[in-house]
Formats: sequence, C-alpha cells, structure tokens
Amino acid sequence: MLAIVISIGLIGMITPILYTNSLALDQAQEGILDKLRSHTNAILFYSNSSEKTTFQGLATEYSDASGLRVTLIAADGTVIGESSIPITELQQMDNHIERPEVLAAQDFGEGSSTRYSNTLKIEFIYFAKKVDQNYYGFKFIRLAQTLKSVKDLAGTYREFYYLIIAFIVLVIIVAWFLLKNWLTDPIRELTQAADDISKGDLSRRININTGGIEIDELAANMNQMAMKLDEDFRRIKRMEKVRSEFLGNVTHELKTPISSISGYIETLLEGAIKDENVNLGFLERSLENVQRLEDLVTDLVEISRIETGELRMNFEYFNIHDLLNDLFKDAHQRNSNKNLKIQLEVPDKKLFIYGDKSRLDQVIANLLSNAMRYTDQGQIRIKVMRRDNELIFSIRDTGIGISRKALSRIFERFYRTDKARDRRKGGTGLGLAISKHIIEAHGSHIYVDSLKGKGSTFSFGITTISPE
Ligand code: ADP
Repeated sequence: MLAIVISIGLIGMITPILYTNSLALDQAQEGILDKLRSHTNAILFYSNSSEKTTFQGLATEYSDASGLRVTLIAADGTVIGESSIPITELQQMDNHIERPEVLAAQDFGEGSSTRYSNTLKIEFIYFAKKVDQNYYGFKFIRLAQTLKSVKDLAGTYREFYYLIIAFIVLVIIVAWFLLKNWLTDPIRELTQAADDISKGDLSRRININTGGIEIDELAANMNQMAMKLDEDFRRIKRMEKVRSEFLGNVTHELKTPISSISGYIETLLEGAIKDENVNLGFLERSLENVQRLEDLVTDLVEISRIETGELRMNFEYFNIHDLLNDLFKDAHQRNSNKNLKIQLEVPDKKLFIYGDKSRLDQVIANLLSNAMRYTDQGQIRIKVMRRDNELIFSIRDTGIGISRKALSRIFERFYRTDKARDRRKGGTGLGLAISKHIIEAHGSHIYVDSLKGKGSTFSFGITTISPE
C-alpha cells in the first residue's frame, strides 16, 4: 500500500519534471545556436577590420575573445584556420566538406549539428555559414561551442530533481505514518471494538485519543453505548433473577397450605370424619388454610398489579380521622383476650390529607395487624402528629421486635424473620412490600425503628396539601 502511494506520487511528480527538463535543455541548445549565429556575423564584420592577415590568426584571435572554437574552411573543404590547434598541425586536419553542418551550409546557406568531435574528443554544437569566398577568402565559417555547459546545466537540474524526489518520498512516508497513527489505527480499533461489542462483550471499551474530534467523539459515543447496553443487560439479568426467585417463593407459599388441606381431607376420608374428637378440628384447620390461600392470592394479585403499574392511585383530599377510628375499634374487637392495650392518639379531629383513602386504609390496617400479630402483651399505639406540611402516622408496639440484620429486609417480598413462628401466626409475607409500594406512590417513605425483644415502630408521612 505504501509502495503504491509512493509510486503514484513519484510518477505524478517526475513526469512533468522530466518534461520541463528536456524542454529546458532544448532551449539551452537553441540559445547556443542563436549565440553562434550572431558571433558568425560578428566575426565576419571583425575580419574586415582585423589587422591580422592569416586565417589562423583571425580564428585564434576571435576564439580568444569569445571562448568559441572558430574554423575557417575553403570551398573544397580544406581547413584554412582553426582556433583549437596550433598552425603547425593545420595541415593534418581532415577535409571538412563532408561535415553535416558544412554540407547544410553548402545547400541552405547555414547549418548546424551537435556531435562528438574526433579532433577534440568533446561533444560540440556546431554552426556553419556559407559566405562569399571572393570577399572573405574562405567559403565557410564555422563556430562551435562545447556542450559542456549544457551538460553541466542538465547535471545541476538532475541533482535538483533527485533532491525534490527524495523530499517527496520523505513527505509521503511521513504523511503515511501520521495518517496511520491518526486514522488507520484508531479506525481499526473502532471496528474491532464494534465487532467485540456485537459479539456480546459489553465490558469492551475503546481507548483512543487521536485529537481528531470526530473520531474521538465516535469512540466516546460507542463507549457510552456499550456502557448503557451493559447496564441494561445487568438490570435485565437482575430482574430475571428477582422474578424467578419470586416465582419460586410463590410456588412454595401456595403449596404449603394446599398440601395441608389435602392432608386433612385425606385423613378425614380415611375414617377420621367419624372420630368426633378430631373431625371438627381438622375441618377448622382446613378452613384456616383455605383462608390463608385466599389472602395469599389476594396479596399476589395486588403486588403484581402494583409492580406492573397497572394499579392506579385515586388521590383525594379527605379527613382520615373516621378511618383511623374504625380501624382502632376493629383492632379492639380482635383483641378478644384483652391482653393488649390499644391506643389512638390524634392532635384533633381535623386530619385532612391528600392521598388514596382505601390504599392508606390498607397500609394502616396491615401495620396494625402486624403489630397485634407480633405482640403478645403490652401496648399498641396509633399516633398522628403534625409536622410541617405533613401528618406523621406511627404504629408502635411492645412486641418481639426485629433484629438489626432483618430490619433492612423486612420490606422485601416474602421476607420473614422467623419462618416457623410467623407461619403459625399467619400473614403472607407480602404485607410490608405492598405497604412500601403504596407509601412510595404517595411520594413518601415508610420507616421502621425496632429493638429485638422491645418492640417496633413503623411510621410514614402524608402531605396535608391538596394540589388543587
Ligand atoms: P407478614 O404477612 O409475614 O407479616 P409482612 O410483609 O407484613 O408479612 O412483614 C414481613 C416480616 O416483617 C414479618 O414476617 C415479620 O417477620 C416482620 N414484622 C413485620 N411487622 C412486625 C412487627 N410489628 N414486629 C415484629 N416483626 C414484624
């Protein structure tokens, strides 16, 4: 991949460079030719004014002044003046009539050629011009310049191009690594994380910091999504656990009275029905268990309706005084052996609150029957107090109390402090859970305060302010 990027980059950059390079060289040659042409004219002009009489002298003199190679050639091609060699060697020079630039000059008046000079072992650019032999004493004048300067120029260009190419390669490599660090690696990490999360690894988090706001933001969002999914998943699992525990409890609670009932009936059918010492007792206990089942089913329906949100509260502004009085009288009647002293303590008769009347009746009845159930002797006091914008209801008993450990759990469904003992005393284990729900639906809390062996106090506050 990196190689491809570099290749494309190089081709893209080098092509125009090479093109301009050859253009520049062509232009340089063109320039030299122009220069040779004007020097030709200059030398012809100079030859008239020169005091030197020999052609060799003219050639050498002009060559010294201009730095160009000067060759003067007779009509038959004999070199009669040549700046680059001493006069003594002039005789040994080849006939120049076949030189391409001379041939061209012969035909077209002037000609040029670029080639390697055997005489001087250097590449030259030649320019020849045909002149009037009668006037000048030579037929062709030829000027030449070595191509060394052009080659040097090309060499300089080449070095410069290599430098540019090296620089471009470097830039591409650096850009590649930066891109890799800033984009490719983080995106790979994001993809990997998305893959892991989709496979169920909800604890997977992305830890990247590119400084590129969008990518970091995406990572943060994905982390948040994973966290939320994780939370939801845990909640669902917890709920599932609670549900299956609840179902287990329900099954157990229902089975106990049912097997008692079938036990009694079986015994009666097997003949106990005729035994007057036990038959009535068995029937009575069967009835007790049926009632227990009925209570349980009622409470189960109730709690499931509350927990699914199906049960709506009917709030109203009302005086709870009469309701308390009725519950109080009821408790008195149930306290048949009179071993409990039951009291109702209210500040006055105007106890207006805003709440669901029948639900609050249910809560107070539940707390009161619990108090009576778990208190063998002493007193039970129902008390109402005003505090700020609330009426505080408290039900206090001098019963068995609740251990510190159990205190935090008694509002859980089916939680019982001492199963055997409680079972004997009746109760479904759902009363406090239901009461807690109801009080919370009133925007309040239910509290318990208890000392084992001394007694318990349950309390809650209900607002006295009607929203209307
Ligand atoms: P239950 O129908 O078993 O009374 P509750 O939800 O009303 O169910 O009460 C849950 C548990 O809290 C009871 O089983 C009992 O152990 C304990 N409890 C509730 N009220 C009292 C109280 N006044 N004194 C002592 N323990 C209590």
